[in-house]
Amino acid sequence: MEIIKNASLKALNTFGVNASTQYYAEIHNLDDIQALLEWKAQHDLPVLLLGGGSNLLFKNNFDGLVAKICLAGKERIEEDDNFTYVSAAGGENWHKFVRWTISQGYAGLENLSLIPGTVGAAPIQNIGAYGVELADHFHSLQAVNLENGDVLEFDKAHCQFAYRDSFFKRYGLDKLLITSVTFALPRHPQWKIDYAGVRDALEGKQPNAERISNAIIKLRQHKLPDPEVIGNAGSFFKNPILSPEKWQALREKYPELPGYQQADGRIKTSAAWLIHHCGLKGYRKGDAGVSEKHALVLVNYGNATGKELCSISQEIIAAISDKYEIFLEPEPRIVV
Ligand SMILES: Cc1cc2nc3c(=O)[nH]c(=O)nc-3n(C[C@H](O)[C@H](O)[C@H](O)COP(=O)(O)OP(=O)(O)OC[C@H]3O[C@@H](n4cnc5c(N)ncnc54)[C@H](O)[C@@H]3O)c2cc1C
Repeated sequence: MEIIKNASLKALNTFGVNASTQYYAEIHNLDDIQALLEWKAQHDLPVLLLGGGSNLLFKNNFDGLVAKICLAGKERIEEDDNFTYVSAAGGENWHKFVRWTISQGYAGLENLSLIPGTVGAAPIQNIGAYGVELADHFHSLQAVNLENGDVLEFDKAHCQFAYRDSFFKRYGLDKLLITSVTFALPRHPQWKIDYAGVRDALEGKQPNAERISNAIIKLRQHKLPDPEVIGNAGSFFKNPILSPEKWQALREKYPELPGYQQADGRIKTSAAWLIHHCGLKGYRKGDAGVSEKHALVLVNYGNATGKELCSISQEIIAAISDKYEIFLEPEPRIVV
């Protein structure tokens, strides 16, 4: 494991924030993981596990070691009557993995096409889009405990997946390095196309995994700002989940407020709608702003710092709280 001192993180986070780290290393194999464990034991400094940097905001420079997970490899493991089991290493690019499953004739992950980042980060916030979450097709994962080197296996129940949440967030980030994830992909899939324009984007064609993936790629490219063009981390806030009483009260005042019934009886509403109707879509302060394309996405117009992006997020949280008495929660990890 080669360790680089005083490395720039600008190209390693999709916000394009110009932060740096005291130490930087890449984890390509088991020897590198062993070396990381040894480094950790010898240094009283934090380690941050980095995938594609698409769900992180560096508020400051990082005083520790950033370890970028580059573990590679993917394979079909086995098949039974109902599922094909496929596994991918933590450093594999998520979207390329999804397209690979489709090219092999496996279905299930198509609605999660074009989400940036790595396979290893995907379970952390139980990534989701267009009516599907990672948890829907998750089987198990392997992780190394960076406190003691133990190799652990987590099944679905142990991961405690919830909306943009999992056991890994609650247990403590950077304690478990996810080395590989296994999916159970249905051999008799039920297509999810009645969500946010997917059916229309299919233009009357019979659904299959590849067509749905292509339709979703098109929808996402149209809707979301491309981090290659303008720095961002996708949705910056989680959609708030409200009690039925709170929802009723708001709905009387704002009849257009969208709501999606949850299994537990609560109602998920749209953070983008709240921000938009607070007049903040397109709001800009220096190089930090709210995207003109999508009210839920904070953008870096060029040289915004992590502190400036955090400050604009605080302004939004305050405005939403004043107007609707709802407290928005950031979705990306803010590294302080
Ligand atoms: C344009 C855009 C669109 C997006 N759309 C969506 C969307 O539709 N749905 C959605 O859910 N998300 C979306 N995201 C957010 C993001 O893509 C996902 O959260 C993704 O899973 C993050 O992957 P990453 O590899 O970039 O993780 P990073 O940002 O590098 O890390 C995220 C967290 O995971 C931890 N981590 C990373 N790798 C590992 C590992 N191997 N082991 C243990 N911990 C690890 C990090 O420490 C950090 O806490 C979007 C982001 C962008 C920029």
